[in-house]
Amino acid sequence: MPFMSDLFALPVTGWVEVAVDAGIDARGRGLHYAIDNELAAVAIGDAVMVPLGRGNRPVRGWVVDRLDAAPHDAPATLKHVLELVTDAPSIPPDLVQLGLWIANYYMAPLGPTLAAMLPPRGTAAKGTRPSRWMQLAQSPDSTGRIGKTQQRILVWLRERGANGGPVERSAIMTALNLTDATAIDRLQSRGLLEEVPAPRLSPEADSVPELTRNQRCVVDAVCADLNSGFAAHLLHGVTGAGKTEVYLHLARAALDKGDAVLVLVPEILLTPQLAARLKQRFPNRRIEILHSGVSPARRRTAWKAIRSGDVDIVLGARSAVFAPIAHERLGLIIVDEEHDASFRQDNTPRYHGRDVAVRRAQMAHCSVLLGSATPSMESWWNATVTGRYALHRLPERAPGLSRPTVRLVDRMEERARDKGPATSLGPTLRAALARTLVEGRQTLLLLNRRGWATYIACQSKGCGWVMRCDHCDASLVLHRKRALDAGGVLHCHHCMSQLRMPQGCPSCNGRLARLGEGSQRLEDEIAQLHPDLEAGRQLVRLDVDSRGSAARVQQVMDDLHAGTIRVLVGTQMIAKGLDLPGVGLVGVVDADTALHIPDFRAAERTFQLVAQVAGRCGRGSQGGTVIIQTCASDDPAITLAAREDFNTFAANELAHRKAAGLPPAARLARCILEHVDLQTVRTDAQRLEQRLRAVGGQWLVNPATPCPLARIAGRHRWHVEVLGTDAASLHQGLATARTQACFEGLGSVTIDVDPMQVS
Ligand code: ADP
Ligand code: ZN
Ligand code: ZN
Repeated sequence: MPFMSDLFALPVTGWVEVAVDAGIDARGRGLHYAIDNELAAVAIGDAVMVPLGRGNRPVRGWVVDRLDAAPHDAPATLKHVLELVTDAPSIPPDLVQLGLWIANYYMAPLGPTLAAMLPPRGTAAKGTRPSRWMQLAQSPDSTGRIGKTQQRILVWLRERGANGGPVERSAIMTALNLTDATAIDRLQSRGLLEEVPAPRLSPEADSVPELTRNQRCVVDAVCADLNSGFAAHLLHGVTGAGKTEVYLHLARAALDKGDAVLVLVPEILLTPQLAARLKQRFPNRRIEILHSGVSPARRRTAWKAIRSGDVDIVLGARSAVFAPIAHERLGLIIVDEEHDASFRQDNTPRYHGRDVAVRRAQMAHCSVLLGSATPSMESWWNATVTGRYALHRLPERAPGLSRPTVRLVDRMEERARDKGPATSLGPTLRAALARTLVEGRQTLLLLNRRGWATYIACQSKGCGWVMRCDHCDASLVLHRKRALDAGGVLHCHHCMSQLRMPQGCPSCNGRLARLGEGSQRLEDEIAQLHPDLEAGRQLVRLDVDSRGSAARVQQVMDDLHAGTIRVLVGTQMIAKGLDLPGVGLVGVVDADTALHIPDFRAAERTFQLVAQVAGRCGRGSQGGTVIIQTCASDDPAITLAAREDFNTFAANELAHRKAAGLPPAARLARCILEHVDLQTVRTDAQRLEQRLRAVGGQWLVNPATPCPLARIAGRHRWHVEVLGTDAASLHQGLATARTQACFEGLGSVTIDVDPMQVS
């Protein structure tokens, strides 16, 4: 197909570099195009359509650079930009810069990286102003049929129960995933909903606790840096130390200077709680929430408002690090629970939200504060070894909070004594649960394994058959739909395939044992132990299988705070940052789930999980009990977590990593190869290893090996790990490898820089 510029030979008036939104690797940069007079005004960040490839397929892209002269490597007839896309937002130049850095650092394609910075496509939500408050009409008077959406709104508002005060329209829309406010308007015009003035927070509700001396020190130290360009801080505060209070004070200081504040949390679950505290503390500030649980239309509206400078505080999960706050106005970035692996995105573009936040602060010349009770080894290294971060500590819990009593229970020993049938809860934890229920306090039970049974095996002697996924090197997990239904469905957690549970062993027809307990079975077990607990209301399970919508998460949070939920069973999701005064007992059903994974971070993960969940307890004035069930009761990751002795753990762990040459003492990248044919992937991996060795330089190339998860969805996986003594040497190596075309002609190669999971 001939191309416009050939037909009309429009004079070229300039040149641009465009990152196209297509999976092509232009070495982390864009492609060159010519522009003609009509488009003379295109600017960096503008969305454009450009022809791509031999067929000149029109694709979307963004201008990432304007050139003063024709690029020297350009062909004589450079393709022209087709048109400016006017109905899509442009990307602020600050973010284009950040995108270039990400594409380069994480070896990610630039176009998809920029695409990930934008809100989902479509039009912005209409008719939603942020501060219109609604509540159920006191004396409703309406007849006629009520639409389904309207009904959902009414039910949701009613079920908010004790908290049934006024709600922002935007909150209703977010919770119920509404793309527009028509249903709310209709309910209002029918007299079922009424608009009320924004609730005035009483001075009591807004009481700001007086900072402790330690908190004051941290606030003062970080504030001192707020005016002096880039500064990175790590706040290590034990669970319940009052880190959030520190964040709020710092946010106030930045806002008072006229700056905007960006707050990142690892998990959607944590946003409502923090959003409430922010709204309460800053009632006159505009706060926007950005995460995948917020409806696309709302995100677009929020994005526009942030971009136009109307927003003071942005709160969100990982991708909110791309909130389009102008860099001149960005005064402070806070990353809460900075150690959390959820900050890492594991598909294209791969990036670590925390590390991007630090880089963004550097570009915006502002301060960044990372906070955690269990800092990542990377951040700890930066704070204690390289001195890149200033370290602040809150070694004691906030006034009024007590350290819980922590008990380690050796399950081997207990099982030897307890002759009953094998159960998830041993006698100690069972008794503690019963006691806590009698006392009327709440219990959190953590089991970091989803499903009902984590593997199915034949019971016949000598058969040895185990149910495995046909497509992956993994066992299948039994999930049940309803409590106690007979069959159930086998799920593969890697390729998502599903299978009916077989009646008997396919190999010898013997009986099948359902081994390894998951969170569903734990829920059933508690239901049997305490039949008086109303399932789904007083006994609730929260994991990725059950969590559903943002509305449900909000509901669970509300019910926890209201005290309706007596026992919450969940996976690691419940271990994070929840601040729940009513909790009297935390049970870690199996502390060893992460201990034996073939990943150099196994100990770190175990420590984090146990220490974090133990910290969810003793937040009220009454103290609390933590019971940790383990089969490794002398493993330091577990014993130190039980004492929340981070300093000792970190010192040992860093010494070990340093001796082994592992991150953070070195920088790691994995080159993962995948292919349906095992022979091909093995040969390709070995070839890549040779090529990478030939690159030379200051890096270490490990021998090609099968990945710990050697097959997913029918594709065999091998990897080559490369390590640099620092980021610069690793990147030098990777960049050279890329220019020397080391990764080409090998089928699918994924490069994972600073991987958080080695699977
Ligand atoms: P963290 O984020 O470190 O786990 P939070 O900031 O959530 O801890 O604080 C835990 C609890 O202690 C909260 O209920 C908070 O209101 C309270 N708190 C924090 N700082 C103080 C203080 N200086 N005086 C009294 N209470 C405080
Ligand atoms: Zn599978
Ligand atoms: Zn068998």
